[in-house]
Amino acid sequence: MAYLPFYFPATTPPKVVIVGGGYAGMAALVTFFRHCPSAEVTLIDPRSDHFKITHLHERFRDPTTRIKIPFEVLARRFGFRHVCATVDFDGETLRQWQIDRHLTIDGQRLPFDYLLLATGNKIDKISSSDRVVDLDLLSGEAFHTVIGRLSALEDGRVPITVVGGGPTGIQFLFEIAHWLAVGKKPNPLRLIEASDNVLTQFRPGLGKYVRSNMASLGVEFLPNTLFQGQEGEDLRVETKQSGGQTRLTSGLTFCFVGKQSSLALGTNPLGQVVVGRTLLSHIFAAGDCSSYRSFGSNSKTAQSAVRKGKLCARNILRHSSRLKLLEPYLHQDLGYVLSLGPRDAIGWIGLQANVVGGAPAVAVKELVEAQHELLLAGIDTYLI
Ligand SMILES: Cc1cc2nc3c(=O)[nH]c(=O)nc-3n(C[C@H](O)[C@H](O)[C@H](O)COP(=O)(O)OP(=O)(O)OC[C@H]3O[C@@H](n4cnc5c(N)ncnc54)[C@H](O)[C@@H]3O)c2cc1C
Repeated sequence: MAYLPFYFPATTPPKVVIVGGGYAGMAALVTFFRHCPSAEVTLIDPRSDHFKITHLHERFRDPTTRIKIPFEVLARRFGFRHVCATVDFDGETLRQWQIDRHLTIDGQRLPFDYLLLATGNKIDKISSSDRVVDLDLLSGEAFHTVIGRLSALEDGRVPITVVGGGPTGIQFLFEIAHWLAVGKKPNPLRLIEASDNVLTQFRPGLGKYVRSNMASLGVEFLPNTLFQGQEGEDLRVETKQSGGQTRLTSGLTFCFVGKQSSLALGTNPLGQVVVGRTLLSHIFAAGDCSSYRSFGSNSKTAQSAVRKGKLCARNILRHSSRLKLLEPYLHQDLGYVLSLGPRDAIGWIGLQANVVGGAPAVAVKELVEAQHELLLAGIDTYLI
């Protein structure tokens, strides 16, 4: 059992229920196992696997990429129980659970000393036509259907469209470009973006690098353009300034129009949920579904989710002990790197102004992904 400062275990280990087994939930599970293997931990998640969504784009390189790890395997490794269910809640429910110290799922009563909510962000379902592909389709078994549809585009002149020039859209754009190049498919590729540039949330250097690589690959860029819908190969778009509608031809349209802002649970700097003005001392939140009132980063990234998940687990253990001295969340983003196909990447490290691209960025991206793999193997290399 690894040493945790300011944690003096009580005689009875805590009963913990974690809702959501993504990046934050898994980081918490590993932390409990490390510092208090006797804690009675239950994970509730409607999926049967932990889903490594940061690898999703790699399925274009290798459809057999392992992006899922069964909770059954992880449960044996880290000594928790998995309940396959969805938990619905609002502020009132949380207040009640704080009093009752149990929740009931499908008639099953689950008592807890502490509850950790790590439900992430909902993936929007956009696809209304079989020519439109969204994250939901790419995430599941239907991925093979998507590859089938791409392969079936026999007319090499029919363009393929990617909607959304944020990090997700850009990562997929370059993977699709690579897939087309490997398969010697001449279909033109275009990117549609609502704002006037790509990656607008980052320093301009990142957007500039990506635009120059897009130009080298011959990707057409349509800025200030809004996706309206698609019927058959008819893609409807609207020009933002004029409101004018245009029809374009698109054999297949990949839509990455951002995340749905699901419920953001406000917490204090220690990770405890605050509903209205009420502090719920036994309910914590971590990951994309949480918003901490602290100096730490609330970015919706895997690195913040992991740091919040680990912090919540440490603070739950400390709260369950006699001292109750908890640690505030202070994590700052250490960087962000996005891949531009198998051999290139772009991002920043340390400071936003410190832009890295090419092989060093690919190495950093692989290192970050390897850290998560190691965590899932029970080796915690996240020093900060
Ligand atoms: C395509 C894509 C690529 C990305 N790439 C990167 C990247 O390269 N680097 C990076 O830092 N970030 C990346 N991100 C963001 C990153 O994936 C998220 O910030 C991270 O997954 C958040 O972790 P989380 O634990 O909060 O949520 P998630 O990892 O989304 O996990 C949430 C879990 O909760 C479960 N759940 C949801 N609702 C309920 C419910 N009601 N009841 C029970 N369980 C529920 C879900 O099944 C899921 O298992 C990417 C996101 C996407 C969509």
